[in-house]
Amino acid sequence: MIGSGTSDGTDTKARVLQSTDIVELIGRTVRLKRSGKDFVGLCPFHQEKTPSFHVSPSRQFFHCYGCKKGGNVIDFVMQRDRVEFIDALRLLAEQAGIPMPAAGQKSNASERQVLLDAHSSACALFEKLLSHPQLGKPARDYLAQRGFTSESTKRFQLGLASDSWDALVTSPLMKKFAPAQLALAGLVKPRERGDGYYDTFRNRLIFPIRDESGRIIAFGGRVMPGSEDPAKYLNSPETPLFSKSRCVFGLDLARQRIVETRTVAVVEGYTDVVMAHQFGASNVVSPLGTALTEQHVTLLRRFADRIVLLFDPDSAGESAVNRAVEIFLSQPVEIAIASLPDGQDPDEFLLANGLEAFNKVLADAADALSFKWRQLSRRFESANAVTGRQQALDEYMRTLSQARSSTAGGVDPLRWGAALLRVSRLTGIPKEELNQRFRIKSGKRGPRKTAAQVSAAAKPTMPSPLPPMTARQKAEGFMLGLLLLEPARWDDVQQHIAPADFMDDQLRAVADLFWRHQRDEGQPELNEFLSLLDEAARSVALEWVREAQEVEDAAAVMEGGLQYLRDERHREEGRKLTAHLQRTGDSSESSVVKPPSEMLLDDLEAMRQLQDNARRPDLKRVAL
Ligand SMILES: [Zn+2]
Repeated sequence: MIGSGTSDGTDTKARVLQSTDIVELIGRTVRLKRSGKDFVGLCPFHQEKTPSFHVSPSRQFFHCYGCKKGGNVIDFVMQRDRVEFIDALRLLAEQAGIPMPAAGQKSNASERQVLLDAHSSACALFEKLLSHPQLGKPARDYLAQRGFTSESTKRFQLGLASDSWDALVTSPLMKKFAPAQLALAGLVKPRERGDGYYDTFRNRLIFPIRDESGRIIAFGGRVMPGSEDPAKYLNSPETPLFSKSRCVFGLDLARQRIVETRTVAVVEGYTDVVMAHQFGASNVVSPLGTALTEQHVTLLRRFADRIVLLFDPDSAGESAVNRAVEIFLSQPVEIAIASLPDGQDPDEFLLANGLEAFNKVLADAADALSFKWRQLSRRFESANAVTGRQQALDEYMRTLSQARSSTAGGVDPLRWGAALLRVSRLTGIPKEELNQRFRIKSGKRGPRKTAAQVSAAAKPTMPSPLPPMTARQKAEGFMLGLLLLEPARWDDVQQHIAPADFMDDQLRAVADLFWRHQRDEGQPELNEFLSLLDEAARSVALEWVREAQEVEDAAAVMEGGLQYLRDERHREEGRKLTAHLQRTGDSSESSVVKPPSEMLLDDLEAMRQLQDNARRPDLKRVAL
């Protein structure tokens, strides 16, 4: 519940909230029009034609009726730029001229800085060699022959490593670094006999690998034509700066476009990335000699809702596609697969067909589940249609079952429900039947959960409030909204009710925090209080704040709400008493009603849709 505020950042946070005007900040990217007390505009977080995005200048918060996103200026920047709290805070602090408290771990910070400096010096050395009139000419000719422009070369800071064992280690440019530091940076390696160091990269075209902010953290080297070296590509080893399972190439340059399109295309090699950007397809990145990992997806998910894997034609093989299915099941992101026609690589394809054709390939990409199904259907096509289909089905179920069980920590029930629904549409098998098939399969691994257990497990992720809303929820919501707007009313209200009187879980949690804040730190300022809530709680709280804002006579509503809760409490006590009397009278029958298991998938689907809508309603699932 309580999050975001770090001990050293709390003070900065308050200052940032005080000195940033939310209308001015949001007005830079969203066209806002005055409407009554608020400003309204088209929501930047979901697609809409009529404005449901409200910004309150007096209360300094934003809230969208459509997608339910809302919060203060820090929340806005976090969602707009998809950054962590601390980065949003830093950005706003910079803009407001507020100094940030220095981060801890001084020694690590300085070691990191030395490694970063070593990389940028090495990069300068490599770039210098590539532009050398004689020594760099073969490499420049090769780049030109591959179709790379000199502008691309500069943008990506391409370079050349000398055909020598010690060009870097003896270069005057690198003199300020101790060899041990260069070794820690992965730029040199100790000789086996223990006397000195030799260069890691020799006679290779150099592709600097930069983090999402553009700092060079590693290098990738492609072998020069005619070299005897059997390794076509070579990357920096793992260092304190660089872990290849966490970095993707090109993200710093692709980031802006990815956020705009919410889509990232993943190709296989860095030459493909450079070429894609050269053609204007700037939402393209590549992993570094590995398959896409969970960490890659987590990183990309900060910027994109849809990941399109663009496989080389020869590598859209079984394991790569199965891996994509696994990722789809384990992470809340769309995974689509595209493959290029005629056995072309992305850079060949772009050179031959241009940007528009390339974008069309990305747009036409099939989601991972459909791609897998089509692949299997084609493979098992046979003279006997019935047998072929059955074989494809069996294989498909096996793949899904394996992908599900190899997902660390298990598949989220919402995600699994969504997957089964899609599989049902693809194969024509009713989802109840699919559900049965998988339940039987998973039953082999352990005791079967009852429907009640499964639905209980699914509950915590259920967004609240769920329609239809009860009168009670409304009364609780209005009262809490009014309290948040006018915290001075608490002195009176707390004499009549306590957080425990709120029956709705989400409202009760917000009330609990509000009560504690009142007791321990005094009246909470609304937009500061919002920062203490997680996203779901904030969204619910804001909804009621907005409802409460519309109220004409707040005092009457508050009194009515209190009266309602008091009456409810009496009714509840009456019910308990009656039940007690009945129990003592007749204790033979217990009639516990279990939810029918058939309902489970429908519930999951409904919840998935709610979750999706909350996330981003305009991003419709790929139609099947
Ligand atoms: Zn919205």
